[in-house]
Amino acid sequence: MAKVKILVEGYTTANTAEQGEEKTCPTITLIRDKDIVMVVDPGVLEDQKILIDKLKEENLTIDDVNIVCITHSHIDHYRNIGIFPKAKTLEYWGLWDRNTVEDWKEQFTDDIQILKTPGHNYDGLTLFVKTDEGVVAICGDIFWEQNFPEDDPYASDIEQLKESRKKVLEMADYIIPGHGKMFKTEK
Ligand SMILES: [Zn+2]
Repeated sequence: MAKVKILVEGYTTANTAEQGEEKTCPTITLIRDKDIVMVVDPGVLEDQKILIDKLKEENLTIDDVNIVCITHSHIDHYRNIGIFPKAKTLEYWGLWDRNTVEDWKEQFTDDIQILKTPGHNYDGLTLFVKTDEGVVAICGDIFWEQNFPEDDPYASDIEQLKESRKKVLEMADYIIPGHGKMFKTEK
């Protein structure tokens, strides 16, 4: 089974603060699956050292990270992808190794499944990770937080977003949202 750990719990005031006063940080997650060390949505951060210190608590350095994944191409989720010198980049369009790109398989490993989940943004994807506790979905801003804003003001396509939310809720036991703490789905 794979292991999932939230390194930094995200937040956002994008839907409440005055323009220019918003503060945002995505939820940054570590996935370990056999030889895969993956960081999802390394974000924007007040200081990159926060993430480096969190990795250190897991006995990891930026050199140990071999995949960095972005759930969608909003800068608050991808600003720091460049700090991992040895990592491939996993995103909607493919798996990048330096300047080359190949298609990823939906069944990425035995325990990690990738599905395209557009709607918040056209290029959204969700990772479904099998863990000892059940299936954990890391879905970016399909849900901002447990009490997601029902009418996502940044949605690229609200109907697609509803479809993606439904899929994630059906398939996951736990959801790691884009900007909040993990929550259990109601079955
Ligand atoms: Zn976001």
